[in-house]
Amino acid sequence: MYDKVLMTFHEKFRQYDLGEGHPFRGDRFANAVKFFENQGLFKLSEIVRVEPQPASKKELLRVHDEGYVDLIFRLAKENKPYDVETPVSPEILEAAMLIVGGAIRCGRAVFSGEAKRAISIGGGYHHAGRNYGGGFCIFNDIAVLVEHLRANYNVKRFLILDYDVHFGNGTSDIYYHDPSVLYISLHQDPRTIYPGTGFVEQIGEDAGEGYNINVPLPPGTSDNTYLYALTEVLVPLAEEFKPEIIIANGGSDAHFADMLGDLNLTVNGFFRISQLIKETADKVCDGKVVLIPGSGYNPQVLPMCWYALVAGVVGLKEIHVEDPYPLPKEPPNGIRTVERTVDELKRLLRRYWSCFGGFGLNVVP
Ligand SMILES: [Zn+2]
Repeated sequence: MYDKVLMTFHEKFRQYDLGEGHPFRGDRFANAVKFFENQGLFKLSEIVRVEPQPASKKELLRVHDEGYVDLIFRLAKENKPYDVETPVSPEILEAAMLIVGGAIRCGRAVFSGEAKRAISIGGGYHHAGRNYGGGFCIFNDIAVLVEHLRANYNVKRFLILDYDVHFGNGTSDIYYHDPSVLYISLHQDPRTIYPGTGFVEQIGEDAGEGYNINVPLPPGTSDNTYLYALTEVLVPLAEEFKPEIIIANGGSDAHFADMLGDLNLTVNGFFRISQLIKETADKVCDGKVVLIPGSGYNPQVLPMCWYALVAGVVGLKEIHVEDPYPLPKEPPNGIRTVERTVDELKRLLRRYWSCFGGFGLNVVP
């Protein structure tokens, strides 16, 4: 009834615990998987759970500079933080290598035919660039996955959809000059949240011009407005770009009850996002998706939102999870602001994409 879906998870992910008082705690991964279990997800014989192997240094070096990787290894040994909010220790490093290994394992599953789609629990470290970390991230598992697929399966066109509440500055930087990776990010208006970049005008440079798509959303944006923007942007670009895979990253930090963000998605909103990702992949890349749910800082809603995301990608038609808090109201002018942003984006990108009314000058042959 369903396609085969592979899910990577390891008990040692727990070691990615950034300490007492830090919003990123180690129990979040296992709590989510436990919730999936309670919802009966693993009764489906199509879902295969595997423990990933750690990534190798060679795999990291496809993305990161050697000096940076050595710095992180040294900081881990010395138990010193990378920056004030991004601690590093031997345990965190071991967990990070396993999480990056999980993304690689998911890519292999999808391109070897072992599974149609795959879910890398706990990943999505999109603030890490080639030679820097930050924002709780040390290695960019999304980019390591892309480069693994390029090197081992000759994949030539990747679509990364980043629906985390924060702009993925690391991922965006890594592919800013690269037309083989279409990076689409919906995030809270960067004037109001970390990392303070991710504006509509940041469209990529050189050969990558037109392949970096930012959709900043005002605080308070809720499900319908979000889904409007996602549908207007993701669907036509995916149809025109024809990626060989969609890699989707983001956890639950765009939920209305998350402490680190001010977007107002509900659990059902995450389910709809995920259903749209699956539907789009079915249309454009034979259903190939790697979903990477990792963020989320409200421990009560995190498992619910990750479950909604997983359920959509698996292909469940409905979920039975209720938001634990009363739903917020959409701000009165929210939809107008987002319509204007989407119009502006289409105007800026028109010369690169025929779906936005131009000639599609930059389409990769
Ligand atoms: Zn985030």
